[in-house]
Amino acid sequence: MRNFAKELEKNGHQVIYFKINDECNTGSFIENLKELIEKHQPQKITIQQPDEYRLDKEVASWSQNLKTPVNTVSSEHFYTSRKYLSDFFKGKKTYLMERFYRALRVEKNVLMHEGKPEGGSWNYDQNNRKKWKGTPSIPELQIQHKDFTGICTEIRKAKLQHFGKVDAANYQWPVSRAECLDLLAYFIEYLLPHFGDFQDALHQQEHFLFHSRLSFALNTKMLSPKEVVGAVEEAYKKDNLRYPLNAVEGFIRQILGWREFVRGIYWATIPEYKSLNALNNTNALPQFYWDAKTDMACVRSALQNSLENAYAHHIQRLMVLGNLALLLGCNPDEVDAWYLGVYIDAIEWVELPNTRGMSQFADGGLLATKPYVSSANYIHKMSNHCVNCTYNYKAKDGEKPCPFNVLYWNFLDKHANEFRRNPRMTMIYKNLDKMEFNSKADMLNKAQEYIREFTAER
Ligand code: FAD
Ligand code: SF4
Repeated sequence: MRNFAKELEKNGHQVIYFKINDECNTGSFIENLKELIEKHQPQKITIQQPDEYRLDKEVASWSQNLKTPVNTVSSEHFYTSRKYLSDFFKGKKTYLMERFYRALRVEKNVLMHEGKPEGGSWNYDQNNRKKWKGTPSIPELQIQHKDFTGICTEIRKAKLQHFGKVDAANYQWPVSRAECLDLLAYFIEYLLPHFGDFQDALHQQEHFLFHSRLSFALNTKMLSPKEVVGAVEEAYKKDNLRYPLNAVEGFIRQILGWREFVRGIYWATIPEYKSLNALNNTNALPQFYWDAKTDMACVRSALQNSLENAYAHHIQRLMVLGNLALLLGCNPDEVDAWYLGVYIDAIEWVELPNTRGMSQFADGGLLATKPYVSSANYIHKMSNHCVNCTYNYKAKDGEKPCPFNVLYWNFLDKHANEFRRNPRMTMIYKNLDKMEFNSKADMLNKAQEYIREFTAER
């Protein structure tokens, strides 16, 4: 924000910017606005639509009682309007991302060839499930690390609550448009060629793998989704041998598909969505989400990434940390608050549907057709975590069985009424039914032991 203010001034704009500890900063957006209006007596006010429901309501009710006319304009930052998704799915009980994404590909003419999807398929996901075993290598990001000790001191002085580790002398996220463009260029040059193949991989030593790290630049509007998608499509058009379609389509689907889709869900369902808890989960989020002190190797790695870098890639968020919270029956309010607090890219419009909906199934299946839960099998298949773990990824009983194993079957058993008739889960329930009575009982007891151990109130 400080860099942006400077850039605007350099381009001849008049800017009033409130630093966090400025005496004139009341700490309330609306109060600050009131004082500005009194001081400057504007003839009219133009506001960019807020991305967050709470602020949107606050601005709307404030502007109603104001004598000065207020004009709210779209940020023009997304492909679709706030209402696009609710109009698109009018009358439907579930919202399918794939339908929405295909329609947008056609409408926006992205990766299309003579009215058909480029390459003949809409989706190349079946190619995108490789485990990364050290090759191809991942060139280090050449972004300038900045010293933000001064700003950190200001934040501490303002007594804002925080958790995680701060390496203020080595800040690694882009803080200007120029740095964001460098990050985009680095992604396209070195990572995009392999983005598809290793999109779902996890690795003990590599926290970022082939992920772009562009969400922060996108969500703070330093980069527009259209320019990111445009640059990726352009790279493919210039050299489709270097940039295979499974990588290019896989990446574009994240932005044109998932990002627009979750934003549409947010505006279609807020404020009710914020309190949904379809599975009635009430347990506390484990203490180790705040300090990474756990023997579970995959969870520790994802938590260290989160607490040290304010980042975790999608599979760490969904299939490790979210998976565990759901299997433990954690209260979605706590899960939401944690996700909103920990990640550099977390803003409610994108955090809430991803966490409460996709990851915690608290919306009862509006966003995902089945819960994203798995046993150690999935994590072992996609990573090198299990071989160095205290727990036994192969075991469901005996010495230190992997918590994901026993909790997974416990979850399915507990929620059989909700999921047994789900056609995508029939096979899983058949396997549960085949389990021998005594070993199933032992496993469910072990699951309760883990739930008590991990979720004990702090
Ligand atoms: P890449 O893997 O390189 O993907 C490219 C871009 O696609 C991302 O930068 C992002 O803008 C977009 N994208 C991918 N998946 C999603 C998605 N599911 N929803 C929206 N955009 C997506 N993303 C956020 O931006 N903010 C959040 O607060 C957030 N919370 C999440 C919580 C949970 C439980 C889960 C499962 C996902 C969450 N995501 C969130 C989505 C996704 O995990 C992040 O966008 C991604 O990990 C950011 O890293 P990246 O830029 O390296 O992504
Ligand atoms: Fe994670 Fe279980 Fe594998 Fe350990 S054994 S790394 S807890 S999946």
